[in-house]
Amino acid sequence: MKYVGAHVSASGGVQNAPLNAQAIGARAFALFTKNQRQWRAKPLSMEAIEAFRENLQAADINARHVLPHDSYLINLGHPEPEGLEKSRNAFLEEMQRCEQLGLSLLNFHPGATLRKIDETESLQLVADSINWVLEQTKGVTAVIENTAGQGSTLGYCFEHLAEIIDGVEDKSRVGVCLDTCHTFVSGYDLRTAEACDETFSQFETTVGFGYLRGMHLNDSKPDLGARVDRHHSLGQGKLGWEVFRYIMRDDRFDDIPMVLETIDEMLWAGEIQALYGFQ
Ligand SMILES: [Zn+2]
Ligand SMILES: [Zn+2]
Repeated sequence: MKYVGAHVSASGGVQNAPLNAQAIGARAFALFTKNQRQWRAKPLSMEAIEAFRENLQAADINARHVLPHDSYLINLGHPEPEGLEKSRNAFLEEMQRCEQLGLSLLNFHPGATLRKIDETESLQLVADSINWVLEQTKGVTAVIENTAGQGSTLGYCFEHLAEIIDGVEDKSRVGVCLDTCHTFVSGYDLRTAEACDETFSQFETTVGFGYLRGMHLNDSKPDLGARVDRHHSLGQGKLGWEVFRYIMRDDRFDDIPMVLETIDEMLWAGEIQALYGFQ
């Protein structure tokens, strides 16, 4: 079974996110559990936590199909001790917020070298960061997202994801999220069924579908290999519909949250409907 939704607003409180998801016919969703552009956040109140759980149940969405996204400021591969410590503490806090909400996944971008250390070193720091956070939390899986490869960011190839996983001690609590736009602009073609076969078989060999915990379904404004992160509405970008039809008909993508981060939220309900229509 497929679970499709969108990255919905949590404005007014996290408890509003399940309702926003329900309103667009989503069976899964993503949210920020705090302001994604700030380091600090007020702790979640008991009322907000309870209301979130109630609304999730009312929306008939399973906690396993919620894929929270961490703050954009966090860099778990930071080359400098102060930046690394700040990031690790913030990431721990995000994991704890997920625990409090009864959620089992936290999606994050691996990090960036800032061109001060080499990629291997930075990837090892990411793995160490994950180990440090997993030791202090229970029940939440760290979900590494592949990236577009802008600037000095890590995670633009499947080998990076595999290298991080390799350094994580508790393999049961690490996974990956593939973003179709990021996959494409980082150089893996997805425009035809044949291209999808090839790209996903590379993913299977390098990382393995056993680690796939979520998908971000986005079309792409830039072209193959552009290494620029600009999402587009489904079917309106350089990818086209084929990849989304392919994913919806492939059981390797069953039972994980698949989340739209497309640019026009007015289209989300229709995009979700179109995706379910492919099955
Ligand atoms: Zn994404
Ligand atoms: Zn993106």
